[in-house]
Amino acid sequence: MCSDRSRTAMRPKPKKSLGQNFLQDHNIRRKIVEACDFSSSDTVIEIGPGQGAMTGLIAARVKRLIAVELDDILAASLEERYKDDPVVTIVHGDILSCDIEALAGRNFHGKLFVFGNIPYYITSPIIEHLFRFRSIITAVYLTVQKEFGKRIAASAGSDDYGSFSCFVQYFSKPKIEFIVKRTCFYPEPKVDSCFLSLAIRSKPPVDVADEELFFKIIRASFQKRRKQMRNSVKDVVPGEKMARALAACGINPKIRSEELDLSQFAAIVNAIVYEK
Ligand code: SAM
Repeated sequence: MCSDRSRTAMRPKPKKSLGQNFLQDHNIRRKIVEACDFSSSDTVIEIGPGQGAMTGLIAARVKRLIAVELDDILAASLEERYKDDPVVTIVHGDILSCDIEALAGRNFHGKLFVFGNIPYYITSPIIEHLFRFRSIITAVYLTVQKEFGKRIAASAGSDDYGSFSCFVQYFSKPKIEFIVKRTCFYPEPKVDSCFLSLAIRSKPPVDVADEELFFKIIRASFQKRRKQMRNSVKDVVPGEKMARALAACGINPKIRSEELDLSQFAAIVNAIVYEK
């Protein structure tokens, strides 16, 4: 189900290379688990349980908890701790190579949630990976760097808004639930975090005739976010064609990329695709 790429030297102290900042604060641990919409029939996949700060708290509320840890020593220690536990299964491996559907098991009942206080350096790859399995996931709960959470939840026109905001908002409804101060962790990171929920959408909020073109245009737009959008995407859609699409949608031809929301990007793509 998952490949293991962690046969590295073993050190007892927290490993920077694995993004290890352990949640120490008991109040925030409780606040986090209480903010999750778990019930006793649910299955949860925990990413990077570490020393198990959240594992027991989650396990007490759900039917099954599958925790995927990459670190050899931590995984072995959790395996030992939970070896007789009927709720918790520890998987030693890399979440990015896990087949989430296989992990949950074909016959899982209730809802499937993914939870993690995740390593900062692989936040985007983790979200992209999880979204491939969105049809079976109800919600994703993540503790991420505060600035990253703001980017994910940002609205059009704000400085934090970008192509990743569009990507995440197309597939889910992100919400920053609360801030988690850096002092809650050991070792203490340089920045604060936030606890973020991503409620997976059953269908995207806008109808898009060509999803590949939609994301190509969005990515190109935000490479030059302050420029006029029609100039930023010249390599994807020729200027004249884009001018006609903008006119058909009634959008100011001089609009800048960062001002366009998801429904406007969708309208532009549909105008291009359906142009007679
Ligand atoms: N959940 C614990 C807590 O809150 O104290 C640990 C959080 S720490 C920020 C991130 C954890 O993810 C570490 O235990 C680290 O070893 C683990 N990890 C790093 N990369 C991983 C990967 N690709 N797959 C699974 N776990 C990973």
